[in-house]
Amino acid sequence: MDYLFNTEKIRYVKGEKPRVDCILCAIRDRDPAVKSLEVARTSSCIVSVNLYPFNPGHIMIFPMRHVPGIEGLSDDEALEMHRLLRASIGILTEEFSPSGFNVGYNLGSGSGASIPHLHQHVVPRYENEIGYLDVLAGTRVVVTDPVEVMERLKKRFLDVSAS
Ligand SMILES: [Zn+2]
Repeated sequence: MDYLFNTEKIRYVKGEKPRVDCILCAIRDRDPAVKSLEVARTSSCIVSVNLYPFNPGHIMIFPMRHVPGIEGLSDDEALEMHRLLRASIGILTEEFSPSGFNVGYNLGSGSGASIPHLHQHVVPRYENEIGYLDVLAGTRVVVTDPVEVMERLKKRFLDVSAS
């Protein structure tokens, strides 16, 4: 199935491939070389919209520390990530009304992992995932621009960041 994304805007967001060692560390450090789609930040973790979303509302939760694998995560960080996951499921449900979620890690080179900094994907799933026909038929309003998704979620995550 072919998802409709606003490729012009995505290209704008992506820009040139940033010259940084780790894109998640760069988001943490607010490196101007990286377009941040951060929506929440706690004492140890960050929630960010995915730059290459599989579906509207696709986010990542990751520890601020550059932890390559799950075995390096502290208990406190693991708990914080779980707390953020719980909040994210609630917020994404209210904002996008998905019918389900895929949640998980890609661990190791055989998994398709592309960033050497542990992160958890939260991918909302929709009953009839959005194709061109839905859009052409005007049966759905699609939020596809990661920046717009980020702006919408940022407001929702204010309480999470503050706590
Ligand atoms: Zn990193």
